[in-house]
Parts: sequence; C-alpha cells; structure tokens
Amino acid sequence: MTANLLDFDLDGLAVFCERLGEKRFRATQLFRWIHQKGAQDFDQMSDLAKSLREKLKTCAHVQPLTPISRHDSADGTIKWLFDVGDGNAVETVFIPEDDRGTLCVSSQAGCAVGCRFCSTGHQGFSRNLTTGEILSQLWFAEHTLRQQFNTTERVISNVVMMGMGEPLQNYSALVPALRAMLDDHGYGLSRRRVTVSTSGVVPMMDRLGDDCPVALAVSLHAPTDALRDNLVPLNRKYPLHELMDACRRYLAHAPRDFITFEYCMLAGVNDQPEHAQALIDLVKPKRGQGETVPCKFNLIPFNPFPASGLTRSDNATVKAFAAQLTEAGIVTTIRKTRGDDIDAACGQLAGDVKDRTRVDERIAKQRVIALTQVPQ
Ligand code: SAH
Ligand code: SF4
Repeated sequence: MTANLLDFDLDGLAVFCERLGEKRFRATQLFRWIHQKGAQDFDQMSDLAKSLREKLKTCAHVQPLTPISRHDSADGTIKWLFDVGDGNAVETVFIPEDDRGTLCVSSQAGCAVGCRFCSTGHQGFSRNLTTGEILSQLWFAEHTLRQQFNTTERVISNVVMMGMGEPLQNYSALVPALRAMLDDHGYGLSRRRVTVSTSGVVPMMDRLGDDCPVALAVSLHAPTDALRDNLVPLNRKYPLHELMDACRRYLAHAPRDFITFEYCMLAGVNDQPEHAQALIDLVKPKRGQGETVPCKFNLIPFNPFPASGLTRSDNATVKAFAAQLTEAGIVTTIRKTRGDDIDAACGQLAGDVKDRTRVDERIAKQRVIALTQVPQ
C-alpha cells in the first residue's frame, strides 16, 4: 500500500522523505505543491528531480475524499457531502462573508458523545476520520473554490471544527491536520482563525493547549450539572467545575484571551431567565466562589429534528436571554441562520448512509446554521 501524503503535516512528510533518502527541503517543496498549489500528480511538481518524482510514484499518492454531492445556496453557502466508505459520509460547509471565508470541517463519521439536541449524536459513532480525510476537506474546498472564482489568492481564511464529530475524541488525527492548516508552507491560517469546538473532553483540552493552541469553542448548553448531564452526556465524566478549570488553563496558551461558549437555545429547557442567571454565576462567580472565565457567548437557535423531542426557543426568548448576559457584562451574539434554501446543517449530518438517497432526503430536511458569529 502506498502512503497518502494528505495524511502528513510537514514534520511527518519530512520523516517520510527522510526514509526515501531525501532532505527536509524536498518535503517542504512537496508540501507546498500539495497544499498551496493543490497538485495531485507528481509530474506536475516541476522543481522536484525526475528521479524523486519516479520514486514517489511507486510509494505515495495524494488522495482526497470523493464528493458525493454539492449544494449551493443563493447566499453563497456551499455544502459538500463526502464519501468515507462503508456507507458513511461526512459534510463540509463553506460560508462566505465580506471579510472572510469560513469552512466548517468534520472530524468523525457520527459521534459517540450523543448529545440530545444533535442529530449526528443520535446516529451514533461510525469511525474516526484520518488526518488525510480531515485535511482533504480543506484541500478540496480551497482548490475547488480557487478554480471556481478564478483566483490564485486564498479563499478560505477561517476553519471551524464544527462539522460532524467530536474533534477531541479524534485527537491524534486532528493535531497533524491542524498543524498543516497553520503551516506557512501549507494553508498559513492564523491560530486565531482556526477554531476547535468541543463538548468538553477535559484532558484533551489540556493537551491541545500544549501541542497546538488554536481558538477554542466549548459547547456548554447548560449552566448546571443536572441539566448538562442530561443534554451532553459527557458532562457525567467531566462535570462543569472541571470544564471551567480546563477553560481557565487553556487560556494560558490560547491565541485568544477568551473562550467562546456555544449555547443551543431549547424552548423551556435551558432558555429561561434563571438559566441565564446560573450561567452568569458559573462564568462570573461571586467573590470567593471561584475565578471568572473570560468568555463570549454564542447563542445558537436549535435546529429541530423529530427524534429529539425538543423545540427551538422563540426569537423574543433568545433576545431576552442575550440581553440578560450582556447586561452582566458578557459579550453575547446570536448565530445567524443562512442558506436555508440548500437545507444543510453544520454538525447535523447522520453518520450512517447505507442508503444515500434517504440521507440526501434527510439532509434536505435540515437547514444551514451559518457560523457567522464564530470569532474571526
Ligand atoms: N462535537 C463538537 C463539534 C461539532 S458540533 C461540539 O459539540 O462542540 C458543532 C456545534 O453544533 C455544537 O456547538 C453543537 O452544539 C451544535 N449543534 C448540534 N446540534 C445542533 C442542533 N440540532 N441545532 C443547533 N446547533 C446544534
Ligand atoms: Fe457530538 Fe458535538 Fe453532536 Fe454532541 S453536539 S453529539 S459532541 S457532534
């Protein structure tokens, strides 16, 4: 079996090249061809010696994921569905805005966390994506869009790991993918513009802070352990006080000086004034009851699906909730919904796609929740 070079960050590619008897600068050239120019064919790589190109043909390939479908919204949002084999597929969403292009990337087929309000969670876990499968979502989107927009300039400026899956439960594949995104010889993205979203895998938050600090979003969804245990089952393993401590520790390394808390607004469940007050007490405790967590809140209108038994909070409730947090001095935004006409949803796709027609129908029933309020 030959190696898929999309599976490597630059250090990994350097080790691979070393085994072929090649110096590190050859790996850098190769990495730039693949990620900056989108090259797949070694014969295209004109500044590599012919002998090296021939050697590479025998032991390596550049194989991105295969797209199954693409849907374009009138507002420019694009959703791709990629085949990951064995009847599974993952989704990737591009959200263009005036000052940036954001790509929402998946890390797993399905998810084992099983949050009550998330259809990915309801489908269960199929498997982890490889580094190459995570990275090839960016590779494919960036180079497809450059061609489409007829530009050699970078199109994607921001990546959010908010597609299917819990990225911190696929840590060993995630980190090299992040490193390639950040590498100046790769996509050269700013650490502040690459966001990992997690439901709160505490030990891995610490490791990420050490290994590859990027912007962090924590899916909070509840101000108390009793409620969060129910909505985000991982809370039973890593309760709120441990999660808040991990957030404070992360900030020591983070490229930003705040954590983004995501909060999905569920009618009558977590959207009442007492929930807002409990959140304020959680992140801004009174004197002697703990330290403040520097944070911003992003309120997400719930995207309903029948099996959840939950409904979306009405606009007035969301606004009142946001106002209560804002009055307490917490920067709070409400995530905008976009791309309704293509009916896609970031983080909403089911993992099991044995019957692709049904999956396309299922996706078609869902909506894009554009990530316009994610930090730049
Ligand atoms: N597993 C990670 C990242 C993927 S989920 C995490 O949970 O953070 C990305 C975001 O989509 C999370 O903030 C999650 O709360 C949100 N989400 C999941 N299901 C949703 C739904 N039905 N409606 C609105 N947002 C949802
Ligand atoms: Fe998994 Fe995130 Fe969905 Fe929870 S919200 S089930 S952690 S993908």
